[in-house]
Amino acid sequence: MEGSQQAPLISRIAPTPSGYLHKGNAFSFVLTWLLTRKMGGRLILRIDDSDASRSRPEYVEDIFYTLDWLGLDYDIGPDGPDAFDACFSQRHRLGMYESFLEDLKNTEGLVYACSCSRKEIRQQNDNGLYKGGCRSKALAFSGKNIAWRVHVPEQTDVCYREWLTGKEERYPLSCRTGDFVVRRKDGLPAYQLVSLADDIFYGVNFIVRGSDLCGSTAAQIYLARCLGAQQGKWQTGAQDFAEASFFHHPLILNNAGEKLSKSKGAASVHFLRESGREPQEIYREVARFCGVPDAYILSLPDLLDAVSLDVVQGKI
Ligand SMILES: [Zn+2]
Repeated sequence: MEGSQQAPLISRIAPTPSGYLHKGNAFSFVLTWLLTRKMGGRLILRIDDSDASRSRPEYVEDIFYTLDWLGLDYDIGPDGPDAFDACFSQRHRLGMYESFLEDLKNTEGLVYACSCSRKEIRQQNDNGLYKGGCRSKALAFSGKNIAWRVHVPEQTDVCYREWLTGKEERYPLSCRTGDFVVRRKDGLPAYQLVSLADDIFYGVNFIVRGSDLCGSTAAQIYLARCLGAQQGKWQTGAQDFAEASFFHHPLILNNAGEKLSKSKGAASVHFLRESGREPQEIYREVARFCGVPDAYILSLPDLLDAVSLDVVQGKI
């Protein structure tokens, strides 16, 4: 029907090469792939290497080994470490991130310069939130060892659409996250800025991520709404991002009930692969999560056939 065409669904797998991927990452990748394919969407592989101090070539390789072991395909993105380095690394988009930062800086009262050290921030408040001591100082943005922070006014809640329930969720950004950093002291764009800029650049409108990242979702939507409310190069893309669907899935925990960490340990995909284990155990974990009997899930096509989006969303 003319006029009722929806924008195509675009999602992404966005690992950070800061350690060896674990089962929880693999679960998230398969779930993202599954839901995107079920909805006929396009899938992007985006490797978040903007923090060059943590990124290492062996971790980039581990991402490709993991995707290969899982058998996941994607529509846009590098097919290996060489292509990643040559064309897709975030260092190729530093100019774009700078342009986002300029737009944010030009938004009245949104961004300010902060010279506080980690120790000073710790001393200001024991719950780890930055108290905004530099807000009124009007420090120069160009100074050395200066971070750029976003002023999140008191009692700022951010609402976003949670895909699983179809409901609007509310996140108390000011009291849980506070004034967050968009440009680090070393001059590099910070994670929240980079992730948002890339999602806008690629037109991402469906984001699957762990439930530990609800705060990032809220921070990024807050930035997107600020950018979307003003004239600028990123206005339309930012407005679209603010309307994106988010699916925050439960995390896979270890036997002690703790979050998994990126290491070469027994929960790593590296370990599973090296010890001859098969990816079916990840597919089955995703099947169980999606409310499907897992006994017959041997492959990704099996998973694609067996899972119903209505069941996942609790409509049946
Ligand atoms: Zn400060």
